[in-house]
Amino acid sequence: MKTAALLWLGQDLRADDNPALRAALCDAGNSDGTPVHIVTTGPAVRRWLGRDFEPSRLRQAFTRECVAALKERLTAFDICWHQIREDDAEALSSLVGELGVQTLYRNFHPATEEVNILDTLKKKFPSLDCRIYPGLQLARKSDLPFAVASLPATFSAFRRKVENINWRVPLDPPTATSALYPVFPRHESGRPAGGEHAARTHLSDYFAGDAAQRYKDTRNALGGWRETTRFSCWLARGCLSPLQVLQALRHHEAEQGASEQTYWIYFELLWREFFHWVAYRYGDHLFAFRGLKSEPPKTAYDPETFERWCQGETGYDIVDACMRQLLRTGHMSNRGRQLVASCLVHELQQDWRLGAAWFEQQLIDYDPASNWGNWQYLAGVGCDPRGHRRFNLEKQAQQYDPEGEFRRRWLNVHAA
Ligand SMILES: Cc1cc2nc3c(=O)[nH]c(=O)nc-3n(C[C@H](O)[C@H](O)[C@H](O)COP(=O)(O)OP(=O)(O)OC[C@H]3O[C@@H](n4cnc5c(N)ncnc54)[C@H](O)[C@@H]3O)c2cc1C
Repeated sequence: MKTAALLWLGQDLRADDNPALRAALCDAGNSDGTPVHIVTTGPAVRRWLGRDFEPSRLRQAFTRECVAALKERLTAFDICWHQIREDDAEALSSLVGELGVQTLYRNFHPATEEVNILDTLKKKFPSLDCRIYPGLQLARKSDLPFAVASLPATFSAFRRKVENINWRVPLDPPTATSALYPVFPRHESGRPAGGEHAARTHLSDYFAGDAAQRYKDTRNALGGWRETTRFSCWLARGCLSPLQVLQALRHHEAEQGASEQTYWIYFELLWREFFHWVAYRYGDHLFAFRGLKSEPPKTAYDPETFERWCQGETGYDIVDACMRQLLRTGHMSNRGRQLVASCLVHELQQDWRLGAAWFEQQLIDYDPASNWGNWQYLAGVGCDPRGHRRFNLEKQAQQYDPEGEFRRRWLNVHAA
């Protein structure tokens, strides 16, 4: 049987700065001409407390566009494409067996499901050569000035240890990769288009303007396309790498000046980085009711209460506006996410994992480590020295939506 190389791309859907992709295609170029097999993963349905959480149409459509765009860029290569569900260890294992895969290429994904699937494959195919590369994070394990088992317990301690690291520069794409297209139009719902081209266009537009020079002051806004960077959906599907974002930020700082405002974008990227290493360090605990703590929270699950929260019918107008925005667009601001999570856990006293599962289903920018890590943090079972975060919803609404414009806009909208 001919031997084959398999690249398990998962959520890292770009040609530029993609170490596993580059290695797989370069190695194959030197071999006997057998095609490279690339596996992309579609979102999976999750079951929590007897309820199915199916990924929204918006998230699925965005992911499909990301895959289609990457295929276009790689038309010059001899590739067999495969699509499996993201939790389908059996499908991956069958592919490895049937194709006689000897070498598996993969960018490091930190969440427990992916780590476990890789471990299962290694056990089942002891001679499988698994080559793991850095792609989704700024840091390689070897860049960190501590062992992952000794990950600092808080974000502040983590940030102090890593923020002065001299990060790598992004990699070029494999030669023969085509120019950046196709270009999907921006969608009616306001949803951004999937794929590397849309991502890179937005990245350069954002930094060509002066929005980054006000980022720290505007980052808590509830809406808008320039108040925050809006990089998250492309980072989550890997259309952008964090190294590319950092490089663009440094370039902007060289052109327009570095300040506390621009530093704060780096600061937020370090939050993402922190949650990725937290996910890897704590494995299954990321999804456990008691999280990283010894005691479970005192919350329950009432299907009706939860459903009202999902549909934006809680009676807390700032929360309802944010939840309807999420249903309609697949996005919610960071401030909004904090408020609706606080409401679910503290006002409605519901199990935080359901909120995280609902976000997993609805968010176009869903990223396992960032989502579940932030939820734990807000529910008081994660890496937060303060124990829990309960927001005064009335006060927050006054502070972040003083004229009520955001609430009027979204309270008048019902889910499509
Ligand atoms: C309950 C909850 C759930 C969340 N779920 C997700 C998720 O599934 N996917 C996701 O990408 N982010 C998640 N976040 C983090 C954050 O809300 C989004 O990254 C941010 O709102 C995306 O908009 P932006 O790209 O304009 O962010 P910006 O404010 O412009 O930040 C720049 C980048 O920094 C990163 N970032 C910023 N804040 C955080 C944070 N708190 N944690 C991790 N990374 C951060 C993101 O990659 C973001 O694109 C969650 C936050 C909360 C409170």
